Amino acid sequence: MNERRETSTCSVCGRERLVSAALGVCRQCILDNYPAVEPAILKAHERARSEFKLPLRPPSDGAQCAQCVNMCKVGDGEVGYCGIRRGDDGNVIRSTRGAVLQWHYDKLPTNCVAEFVCPAGTGCGSRKYSRSNGAEHGYKNLAVFYGACNFSCLFCQNWHFRRLTKAKSPVVSSNRLAAKVDRKTACVCFFGGDPAPQVEHAIETSEIVMEKNDKVRICFETNGSMNRRYLSKMADLSYDSGGCIKFDLKTWNVRMNRALCGTDNRWTLNNFRWLADYSARRGDRGVPFLVASTLLVPGYIEEEEVAELAGFIASLDENIPYSLLAFSPAFQMTDLPKTSEAEARACLEAAKAAGLERVRLGNAHLVG
Ligand code: SF4
Ligand code: SF4
Repeated sequence: MNERRETSTCSVCGRERLVSAALGVCRQCILDNYPAVEPAILKAHERARSEFKLPLRPPSDGAQCAQCVNMCKVGDGEVGYCGIRRGDDGNVIRSTRGAVLQWHYDKLPTNCVAEFVCPAGTGCGSRKYSRSNGAEHGYKNLAVFYGACNFSCLFCQNWHFRRLTKAKSPVVSSNRLAAKVDRKTACVCFFGGDPAPQVEHAIETSEIVMEKNDKVRICFETNGSMNRRYLSKMADLSYDSGGCIKFDLKTWNVRMNRALCGTDNRWTLNNFRWLADYSARRGDRGVPFLVASTLLVPGYIEEEEVAELAGFIASLDENIPYSLLAFSPAFQMTDLPKTSEAEARACLEAAKAAGLERVRLGNAHLVG
């Protein structure tokens, strides 16, 4: 892993900046001079992916997978960019019959992106969606950690999901997972990795859960880049159960998304807009439906990027909760510092100045 340091020289502009050695280039060059930084970006993602035997780029010769923004064309016997869907006799299917995942229970209220606004943390909403008048002490969340992702984030805070992708294990069927919901389970949260590459499994599990329980909220935490066909089912499940969809809006600028996450963010932003419309169409249930979050990656995702994202969210609905997440050095970016207090404050101010009414700093204990 990289040695921790505060600043270094950008290999393109030569300026002393907060630059991660994994990329070797600064934020400004990514935004202003993409052709010059692209080779460094591709190399950084190749390094990060080859260790886990993941395809270095979305494959482009074979059957079409339309599951997510990457739109891989996967040849027989190959896997897509997510490493979990594979080409099989002219189709693209999941590599396993169940899904690759780990699960555990979290006591409520838990360290969830939406906990500051959802029924589990606040008791908001009617008793239709909430087990108590205040925070749901005595209840638990079933946390479902999918072992694959269709993004390739160099700052990944849950990077170890890649070990599951590589091993294609453990595999859990929808029925077995749904059976983990007991009378003390107030919510199920599908995250990872990301639910997108195995989202049919999350949908099937949710349907089984909702058939057997009338008071379990279904929530998703995602990069939001799945096919709209699946997003629409996820939205129905979350809305009907009183749960929420938490979108990780990692970047505003598409070049920044390619640099940090290896992929395009346009499906994410369009899907977020679609969910805001969906929520407006269906009306207020008294509990939040759509929640946004952004990880504050020092040197890359700072005040300016947050202001753009917050402006976008506010243009849809100023009441959408927005959680800014303090950064912990991880995966390929262990050399970046933690989010500083000054940076956190500036980002919070920028989000509020954009007009958002419900903004908070998550993982505040990480601010250094
Ligand atoms: S889910 Fe996305 S990343 Fe995986 S094979 Fe399909 S298009 Fe590619
Ligand atoms: S999973 Fe949903 S209901 Fe449970 S704590 Fe998180 S946002 Fe709240």
